[in-house]
Amino acid sequence: MNPVDYKAAFRSAVDQIRSEGRYRVFADLKRHRGNFPHATWVGPDLEREVVVWCSNDYLGQGQNPVVLDAMHAAIDAAGSGSGGTRNISGTTHYHVELEHELADLHGKDAALLFTSGYVANEATLSSLARILPGLIIFSDSENHASMIAGIRNGKAERHIFRHNDLDHLEKLLAAAPADAPKLVAFESVYSMDGDIADIGATAALAKKYGAITYLDEVHAVGMYGLRGAGVAERDGVMDQIDIIEGTLGKAFGVMGGYIAGDVDMVDAVRLYAAGFIFTTSLPPALTAGALASVKYLKAHNELRIRHQERAETLKRRFKEAGLPVMPSVSHIVPVLVGDPVHCKLVSDALLAEHGIYVQPINYPTVPKGTERLRFTPTPFHDDTMMDHLVKTMDALWTRCNVKRHGMAA
Ligand SMILES: *Cc1c(COP(=O)(O)O)cnc(C)c1O
Repeated sequence: MNPVDYKAAFRSAVDQIRSEGRYRVFADLKRHRGNFPHATWVGPDLEREVVVWCSNDYLGQGQNPVVLDAMHAAIDAAGSGSGGTRNISGTTHYHVELEHELADLHGKDAALLFTSGYVANEATLSSLARILPGLIIFSDSENHASMIAGIRNGKAERHIFRHNDLDHLEKLLAAAPADAPKLVAFESVYSMDGDIADIGATAALAKKYGAITYLDEVHAVGMYGLRGAGVAERDGVMDQIDIIEGTLGKAFGVMGGYIAGDVDMVDAVRLYAAGFIFTTSLPPALTAGALASVKYLKAHNELRIRHQERAETLKRRFKEAGLPVMPSVSHIVPVLVGDPVHCKLVSDALLAEHGIYVQPINYPTVPKGTERLRFTPTPFHDDTMMDHLVKTMDALWTRCNVKRHGMAA
């Protein structure tokens, strides 16, 4: 007999989550090529047609024929997997081209691909602590889990500044030794609240104290700026940021992550980052698809204009219906529910009864008491879909007796 009852231990860990109302159930979806944002939901008893309202494929690029053709062509030309790490036979010409394209997108000398945005953040931030001995990292309190993981794993001294609070950041920077290497890590669009950092002011502050800047533009690449390089491009401050990190899995509609910046910085990370070195590189088809997607979005600003218009329209329409839209200044449309049980109740009813799929967002993704539904309208969500959504939400808010105001804008 084993002295430890492992099965009971796993069950009790799961029961703990369940008792807090935040057990996660994944929606089982069949997507249909060319019919975005429609999908078929495979429910417990039946299948039903739904409209997806919570995809991070923000611009529908995961369905763009230009991207799909490039992926098909790469499979035909080069096969399936890459066959190795980047160092050992896993660097194809597609990887090289994509890194050039990404460096160009951000106006930088060089770029480096990773298997995901999570890995890009974890691998880069953890290796920087080794590359720059004595590094002190200043990290926004709402930074993504992948940045936190990288900062922790690097074991550098770290200070957390209050979210987007530059006075607090300045106090912390001023208190650190003037001659120590320093790095300020932050995001442009914070994807749960939809607020946006003042990138120019943050960069100027960092410079004043001799710190370099690390900016996660995961929820902005493809979507902001004339060529889709992100909020730093929109704000005209791309050259003020030392390291820009992005994903190929959200607005670019494929998969993978990257950093862009100075050639020596990129070369150092390439040689030190375990999460880059010791893993099979992205398959040629993914890199070819991402390359086509980045190029396409560089040249199609009208998609970004339509995207912003759709988000503004949905915010306005929710507000007009008296629903508690949180004060987002981006393409994210969060609606406050305020507790995990109601949040799941409303989202279950939307899905099973009305064919509206929006995932409840619970702790630890957001703080307890701010559980919400997070809508991400794309250029392909038309007025008829919005009519149905707003009418249904209004009725459900009344039926489930959910608060209409509170921290609403
Ligand atoms: C999703 C996300 C990531 C991770 O990107 P993936 O490509 O999905 O791994 C990194 N940072 C932020 C802010 C994110 O929301």
